[in-house]
Amino acid sequence: MSIRILAPEVISKIAAGEVVERPASVVKELVENSLDAGASQVSIEVRGGGVSFIRVTDNGAGIPSQEIELCFHRYATSKITSLADLEKSTSLGFRGEALPSIAAVAEASILSRSKDEMAGTYLSLRDGGVVERGARGCPQGTTVVVRSLFRNLPARLKFLKSLATENSHIIELVSQYSLAFPEVRFSLSVDGRPILNTPGNGRARDVLVEVYGLEIAQTMLEIGKRGGELSIYGYISPPSVSRASRSYLSFFVNRRWVQSRLLSRAVEKAYEGLLMTGRYPMAVVNISVPPQDVDINVHPAKREVRFRQEHSIFSATYEVVHGTLVEQARVPEVGSKPIFAPPPGQEKAWQMPIQHEATSPPSSTSETAHPSLPILRVVGQLASTYILAEGPDGLYLIDQHAAHERVLFDKILAQQAQRTIEVQGLLEPLTIELSPRQRENLSSRAPELAHFGIEIEPFGDRTYIIRTIPAMLGVDKAAEAVREISDSQGEDTTTKWVERTALTLACHSAIRAGQTLEQEETKELIRQLEQTTSPRTCPHGRPTMIHLSSWQLQKEFGRT
Ligand code: ADP
Ligand code: MG
Repeated sequence: MSIRILAPEVISKIAAGEVVERPASVVKELVENSLDAGASQVSIEVRGGGVSFIRVTDNGAGIPSQEIELCFHRYATSKITSLADLEKSTSLGFRGEALPSIAAVAEASILSRSKDEMAGTYLSLRDGGVVERGARGCPQGTTVVVRSLFRNLPARLKFLKSLATENSHIIELVSQYSLAFPEVRFSLSVDGRPILNTPGNGRARDVLVEVYGLEIAQTMLEIGKRGGELSIYGYISPPSVSRASRSYLSFFVNRRWVQSRLLSRAVEKAYEGLLMTGRYPMAVVNISVPPQDVDINVHPAKREVRFRQEHSIFSATYEVVHGTLVEQARVPEVGSKPIFAPPPGQEKAWQMPIQHEATSPPSSTSETAHPSLPILRVVGQLASTYILAEGPDGLYLIDQHAAHERVLFDKILAQQAQRTIEVQGLLEPLTIELSPRQRENLSSRAPELAHFGIEIEPFGDRTYIIRTIPAMLGVDKAAEAVREISDSQGEDTTTKWVERTALTLACHSAIRAGQTLEQEETKELIRQLEQTTSPRTCPHGRPTMIHLSSWQLQKEFGRT
């Protein structure tokens, strides 16, 4: 094929693909435009996962009639005029790409009236071209309607996940923007159901209540270092509240919602030693820096930014978060103590056997080839956390939590497949508050959840009632477990979702570290561990045991 320049309609669709990845991207661009227009109210309505219908209405500045066609031209923007402006830009948009991109991959219409106009202007487009224009009465502000997204882009349509997943992304997005703009009233409805309504009173904690529920909003700690060139402010969870994934870490740089490895690392580092492995804090962190110190033009969907002084941003964020955690730790808190921070000396002694195992050729090769366990004789329990056992070839140290997790995981998976999970009815049903996104995730999985022995039903606005739970799960762990399950997205295949749910239940039901066990109990646990499919790893993939072979012992003691 010879080289040729692509036809304009091909170019526009390819370019649009970068900006509009999924329905939530459309919502993002429209909401950003409303915020840039200074709106104090933004209403979002979606139907059919955002594929069939998206409407965003704002009460912002509006667009003058003579400029309305221009909005749909590629690289047409009112926000910057020069590269120098980009350096100073405080608006969310700056590329002039969103509206033309949306119009290239969907049917779009706009109705807008600016302050000094008598009537609004209506414009409707198909395949990027205007098909209707007219004057219509409307309040000041702008409404954009987007229909039949990706109808002309079947490949992209195929890549979309279930409607529930697309809804979940949209809810997440609006939740995040409402956290960043507490002075704006957001309302979101999905298929006619009201999902989120924020008061718009400027108080971030009130938005937290809407997004994460009252219980959590009350426990969140305020962080704040304001003033000067760099301000860092927002909310973080106390160490007693944690989540199984990073999805509760939200970062806003100059009020732009961004994904940032740098910032998550800084926050996570501040919690080091306070949370168990695999647990993450919740945080809403706003960073405000002079616009010239941050490059906003590094991602087509503006989802990432680059800081000029990465290092100082990292350490300032770490210090603000860490400082707040240290401060609050002075107040003794009932029912929460950081258990996973052993004194430094002790820590070292415990790591020794692992290093030895790694350097020992004889045992490691034979072990991977034979995943099953040799016969073990329990010697005792160590630090109420590990089971000490003797095998034919040396000493085994078994992590009681990890081992029990493996046992329960296998059991739960088997029982849910055969629908034989033992259920306990709760005399006093538990109530639990869920975020809009969690509610959406949960409702798409209600039937599968029942197979796990969990019966849960809506009770008012954002509250749910848990009526039954699996018998093995402690009542005091039930709320946390259900909350974690409802974090798993509909995006997963059912098999993956089932596995993850089994994992969550196993983790919350298993014996904890620090729990003293009777000799009989330890024996029983080892016996059950022997029966499992992969006794040497917990379902998270971490080891359940470490092995100090007779050979290693002899070597250490200088007997060889
Ligand atoms: P950008 O936001 O990068 O400028 P867009 O394609 O999103 O590009 O929008 C193009 C222009 O249309 C904006 O610069 C703005 O002037 C106008 N516009 C879009 N949406 C709105 C809105 N909701 N209210 C007021 N003006 C808007
Ligand atoms: Mg824009």
